Amino acid sequence: MKRCHNFNAGPAVLPVPVLERIREEMLCLPGVGMSVLEISHRSKTFETILSETENRLRRLLNVPETHHILFLQGGASLQFSMVPLNFLTRDGVADYIVTGSWSEKAVEEARKIGRVNIAATTKEENYARIPNQSELRLDPQAAYVHFTSNNTIFGTQWPTEPEVGTTPLVCDASSDFLSRPLDVSKYALLYAGAQKNAGPAGVTIVIVREDWLERIPGGLPTMLDYRTHVKHRSLYNTPPVFAIYVVGLVLEYLEAQGGLAAVAAASAEKAGKLYAAIDSGSFYRGTAERNSRSLMNVCFRLPNPDLEAVFLREAAANGFEGLPGHRSVGGIRASLYNALPMESVLALIDFMRDFARRHA
Ligand SMILES: *Cc1c(COP(=O)(O)O)cnc(C)c1O
Repeated sequence: MKRCHNFNAGPAVLPVPVLERIREEMLCLPGVGMSVLEISHRSKTFETILSETENRLRRLLNVPETHHILFLQGGASLQFSMVPLNFLTRDGVADYIVTGSWSEKAVEEARKIGRVNIAATTKEENYARIPNQSELRLDPQAAYVHFTSNNTIFGTQWPTEPEVGTTPLVCDASSDFLSRPLDVSKYALLYAGAQKNAGPAGVTIVIVREDWLERIPGGLPTMLDYRTHVKHRSLYNTPPVFAIYVVGLVLEYLEAQGGLAAVAAASAEKAGKLYAAIDSGSFYRGTAERNSRSLMNVCFRLPNPDLEAVFLREAAANGFEGLPGHRSVGGIRASLYNALPMESVLALIDFMRDFARRHA
């Protein structure tokens, strides 16, 4: 059994030690006599898994006591609706900074609830960059400012969060969550589907500031009200037990790697090498502007779509998975999430050099 080089954008590569641990514990969690797939979500065992996962995340990301950590379902996509349902009133307005397809989807859902002010968009430039601070047209009345920290499809990433004054800041961090340290105290709410960088599909992590919950109107459907999940500590209904268990193992693995500063350094090294290979000649062309480049999703083109098709075919035959760009944009996308080993990046660079030599 040989593992491929997994450049999938999500669900994506998981650390081998995590997969090995899952395999070891699949029939029997130590001392429990059952698989994690078979335990009750009300059992002591699961309560321990849940609280350890939460504590690990709090430690790793330095989440202050002012913020709750929730494990929800419905993906990041449900957060596109839950955020405005809870925090945007019908006569209110929210600022959205639009930097790609996921931001557009978030806007679409918010518009069903209230008014949206597009504080900035780089759509005209095919989302090749992140807007500058000076381009933001923030509404001082806004209930919150929403931005997407990493644009999975266009391969751009905010170097740091936008400055928004006292307006609550909300972030869709799905595709760079746990890739670098964050100052969580700057955020009113931050959410991330686990399947990009934090675990398997099926759980979405939400971090929300306690004092912001007071703004939530009454009468929301129970499951769509953040207070339900805060009050019941993510155990109002059956949570995604297995996914939370795996997220816990991933967090344990990241701690053993030296924490998020070490993880960020490894990411910068992997992306740095790949971008350097892209920039080293004129055969490959990165699609994102240099100072907006994502360390997670590296998007590039070849001289023409026919060559891209050949590249992707040959790459697949050589054990490189997940390299086609998103179907809406085409091209090539190499996702370099935490669990992707440097060895895979180096193998891809070798393959790219060889391909360019043969086809330039
Ligand atoms: C993948 C992704 C989503 C959608 O996540 P789901 O869990 O499939 O709903 C939203 N935002 C970003 C930035 C993503 O990368």
